Order: sequence, then structure tokens, then C-alpha cells
Amino acid sequence: MSLPTGSHKTFRIAILGIYHESNTFVPASTTLADFQNSRWLKGTALLDAYRNAFHELGGAIEVFSETNVEMVPVFYAETTPGGTITSEAYAALQEELLNELASALPVDACFVVPHGAAVAENHRDMDGEWLSALRQFLGKAIPIVGTLDPHANVSPLMAGATQALFPYRTNPHIDQRETGRRAAHFLLSILQNNSRPVQRLWQSPVAISIEQQHTEADPCKSLYQFVRSLEEKYPCTQVEIALGFPYADVPEMGTSLLLISENGNTDFEAIEQELTAYFLQHKKSFAATKKTVEETLQRIPSSPKPVLLLDMGDNVGGGSAGDSTFLLEKLESTTHKTLICLYAPEAVAACKKQKDEQAFLLSFGCHPESAKAFTTISTLLGRYDGKFAEEKPRHGGQKTFDMGDTAVIRTEKGNTVLLHSKRMPPFSLAQITSCGIDPKDFDVIIAKGVNAPIAAYKDVCPTILQANTPGVTQADMTQFLYQHRRKPLYPFENVDT
Ligand SMILES: [Zn+2]
Repeated sequence: MSLPTGSHKTFRIAILGIYHESNTFVPASTTLADFQNSRWLKGTALLDAYRNAFHELGGAIEVFSETNVEMVPVFYAETTPGGTITSEAYAALQEELLNELASALPVDACFVVPHGAAVAENHRDMDGEWLSALRQFLGKAIPIVGTLDPHANVSPLMAGATQALFPYRTNPHIDQRETGRRAAHFLLSILQNNSRPVQRLWQSPVAISIEQQHTEADPCKSLYQFVRSLEEKYPCTQVEIALGFPYADVPEMGTSLLLISENGNTDFEAIEQELTAYFLQHKKSFAATKKTVEETLQRIPSSPKPVLLLDMGDNVGGGSAGDSTFLLEKLESTTHKTLICLYAPEAVAACKKQKDEQAFLLSFGCHPESAKAFTTISTLLGRYDGKFAEEKPRHGGQKTFDMGDTAVIRTEKGNTVLLHSKRMPPFSLAQITSCGIDPKDFDVIIAKGVNAPIAAYKDVCPTILQANTPGVTQADMTQFLYQHRRKPLYPFENVDT
């Protein structure tokens, strides 16, 4: 859709969002304080925080700034992926959002930023719930359009409450700003053409494993090419992929597609038949590879260094703590010079009492099988405030980061451990360079993720290996005990039709 011109009407567009990826297998809850201590923005502070960010809000602000729109920044809350959101936190988030919106009325439209995989204790389909509450609050006539993270588990409520939702098309997510622009243009075209798009949700019988969700590699690269070919075949239709988030035990868990008909004349059934045939034909390629950690580690000696070793079972961006010493303990028994970042607030506090270059006994982290901390004779290399900035498009689209008080130590075996006191996904190389660490000094860099860290590290790591480690984000989804997922769903059940 092109941006219509010639209209002089000024549209008031509300901008708001609640953004969380909730792992229901994580024992600890995500609380109201987690949001309030992370990103809790209202009014112009929202615009200032994201105007120049590689984030969907930045893209939307850019488009609205260029056109006849009066932006009404309402409320945006986000925190690091983690456990299920408490009922209290959800109630407070929704109340804040609707109260702020009430004081900003009237508006002509609403730009929304859900993640699509939020789960609250009292509302498993949390995004569907708040988007429905928003729809009820605004009434049927106000267009609601927004973005999604492709790790969304899209529900009928989410699709029903909105005119169109656009997931990013890359993983690692480096097109968030562009996705915000795309959604903002679509919303403007609805207002200016008075058009009536129709959105339809199609839930795939195949759930794509987290291991296979890198969009620059097959099978996903071919899948995205296939849906672009569908858009050519069915004019005025956008076909959007939500890869899905396996770590949420909800009925909508799995891969889904949003079919957005710009004029309501799309033959949805025909597209759905093509999608069904495609997913069934390629289902095996979307499953986890189930390689053992040992098989992966055996590839390190012959691989160009440094190797980026991805700890899939302790994926911070998927809700894990980021404190697993599983791979560090394996690498300590090798000669590979290794770097790891670990969430370890108590160890950071212990380091505050130490003098540089003086050896001391330090315990940190947690082995996912023994639940024991790792203890080593350590040497303190430096202490930092843990704040750093990212200037390039990276997964998550954020510009500023705070990993809390930070200490860098050397283990008895000579490996380097960056200990930080706030949970931090490895989305920016500045996490280590801001502490004076040169990635080229290492044979192996362990990063707590599956695909997201690739954007940050691929320029300095010629080899990328996924390690199938244990934890609440382990790669093989068939190892989780789901109570609420839909059936039949491959790879849990076989599907043929
Ligand atoms: Zn994502």
C-alpha cells in the first residue's frame, strides 16, 4: 500500500503497548516491579526513548512525524523475558494503559505494540485479553493496527481485536523499525482511504522448533520466500508469519500466519490450502535436530575462531535466568580460551570486597542438572557500572542497556567470566566491549540464546554452533509437559492432512 496524499485532516493516533515474552516453564513469576524497573514510559518520554531506536516504536514515530498525524503517546511497558506475569501485575498494567488512554481521548486510531507471547496467571492469552479490552474501550469504529514479535503465539482474540498485526520478518530481529514503519503506513492508509481490511488467523499443524527459526537459513528462508510468492499470487493480500514461542503452555502455542486482505476480497481458503500443503511437505525440516552437546563441542577444534557457542537451554531472550554454568564447566576441562557472561548478583557483590589481581575463592551460577554453583579460584580483572549503548540494528531494537553492577574475573583455568547483576540477553557486542573485553582474544564465546545473539556476534565470530543444553529453554519442545497446547500438532503428534 502506498501512502495516500492530499488529505489535510489531522489524525490523532494513540501509541501504546505492553510487551513481554512469558516462559510458563520458569518457576519464578514476572512482577509489576520488573516492568516498573525496566521500561515504563508515558507521554513524551515514550517518544524520546524510541524516536531514534531500531525498534517498531521508532519506525512508527518516524512515519507519523512525516505525515499529518498528531501522535498521542499513551503508555509502553516492557521487561526482560521471564516467567508468567502475576495477576496483580497484569491488572495494574491494563489499568494504567486504559486510564492513560481515557485522559488522552478522543483519538482516531490506535497503534499497538504487543509481543504476542505474554501469559498472565489469570489470563493465559494476556495479549488477546488486553487487546480485547482496548477494543471494547475504543469501540468498533476506531482502527487498531500494530506489530508483533515473530515469537508470538497468535490467538483468535489478538486477531479479532485488531485490523492488522505485522510480525517482524527477521530472526534475529533486525527489521523492527522497518516493521513499525510498515504497520504505521497501513494504519494511515485505513484512515485516509476509509478502507476496511480483513484479518484472518491460520494456525499451522506444525510448530517450528526454536532451532530452525533463523530466517537467513533454511527451512525458514524458503518459507518466507514461499509466503512472498503467495502475496504475488493473491493481490492486495499480506501474508505474515508468526514463528511461535514454544516455552508457553497455551492453546495458541505454535506457528501461525496472519492473512491480511486489504480490501476484504481475498480467497482465504485457497491460501490456507497452499499453506497446509507446504507445512505438511516440509514438517521434518522444521523439527529440532537433537544433536548432543558432545557432538557440538567436538566441532570446536577444527572451526575458525572465535566460535560463538549458543547455550540454547539458558536462552535469556526466551525467559531463562542466564546463570547456567553447564557449558563453562565443559570448556574448563579443555584448552579453549573461553568467555562467558553470567547473571550472578551475589558473586558481583562478593567481588566488590576484592582487590584487583588478588586470587580468591568465588562461587557463581547454577548447573542446570545438579543445581550447584560453580566454584573457582578467581582473579578480579575489573569492575564496571554495567551500562552500555548499541548504535546498530540488533535483536530487540533497544539503544541503551543496563546489566547492573558488573565484575569481570578470570577462573583458575584461565577463562574469563563477565558477572552481571541484572538479567541481560546477549543482544549487543557492547555488553563485553564496554568492559574492555576484545572478542578476538577468545577461542569460544558462550552466548545465552539460540538465534538472537547472532546479530551481535556474527561480525566477530566466523563459526556459530548451537548447543542443545538442558534448561527451561531447551531446544527440543517435545521434552516439555504441556497441558494446554492444541492437538494434533507436529512434532508431538504426526499430522498428514
Ligand atoms: Zn522474538
